[in-house]
Amino acid sequence: MTTLITHSVCLEHQMEQHHPESPERLAAVLSHLNDSRLIDDLTTLQATEAVRDDLTAFHRDKYVDALVAMEPDQGLRPVNPDTSMGPKSLAAARYAAGAAIQGVDHVLAEADTRVFCAVRPPGHHAEESTAMGFCFFNSVALAAHRALNKHELERVAILDFDVHHGNGTVDAFQDDPRVLVCSSFQFPHYPYRLQDVDRPNIINTPLAAGTTGVQFRKAIERDWLPAMDEFAPALILVSAGFDAHRDDPLGDLLLDEADFGWITSLIIDAANRHARGRIVSILEGGYNLKALARSVATHLEELCA
Ligand SMILES: [Zn+2]
Repeated sequence: MTTLITHSVCLEHQMEQHHPESPERLAAVLSHLNDSRLIDDLTTLQATEAVRDDLTAFHRDKYVDALVAMEPDQGLRPVNPDTSMGPKSLAAARYAAGAAIQGVDHVLAEADTRVFCAVRPPGHHAEESTAMGFCFFNSVALAAHRALNKHELERVAILDFDVHHGNGTVDAFQDDPRVLVCSSFQFPHYPYRLQDVDRPNIINTPLAAGTTGVQFRKAIERDWLPAMDEFAPALILVSAGFDAHRDDPLGDLLLDEADFGWITSLIIDAANRHARGRIVSILEGGYNLKALARSVATHLEELCA
């Protein structure tokens, strides 16, 4: 079985009206899983909340304190021009990070080999002391720290196919050779940070606007496959963003569900070769509700196969 980890508080984090990172995103994903009966093939777990020590495995104490101090009782408080905080936002971010950490514990306890975390807000733009790009806590980075620190794994890979570069994840591990970070992203495009870090454990795959599925697949095979096979991770974490879909309003790449199925199957093969099949995939972006729901379903169909 594949395990789905989620929490209802992730539906309660709300930013401005019509903000693309809306509760409807997760609602669309979950209702599609129900309607398609894919949910019957999954074991569903309630996420646990990340505690302070989990968060400070990457984020600075002062940063966590500052976010907590900003938390409003009602209304919205801007954190930066594209990210704001409502009364439930930090709780949702803690449960999103908690789900990813719990996913790592779950696969390393051999309870299951594959986990998908259906959570929001996303996390891969959050740097050590910076909330940005709709992200507060970097869930995938915190999950990697859990695998390294608690489970003492020697090598963890993070694969990020969101249309936006995973700058926060690069920030977390650019000086830590225990973690391989592979990120494909539209370039030039938001977030315009840390895109040219030159380290052997950071594999950046920039893609021009208009990149097709065929071109995407070639680039991933060229850049990611040799890096993964040389690195031989004991665990694969996935920043699963689906905003590289051709119908997504926040990107200009031309991928479709089949391309997300293809990369999921490539990740499964790599996990089977190196990581005893262990994969923890965490939802990042994806802002066309229908395309997002269908793409997550395709990703999960592959993970369940
Ligand atoms: Zn994105």
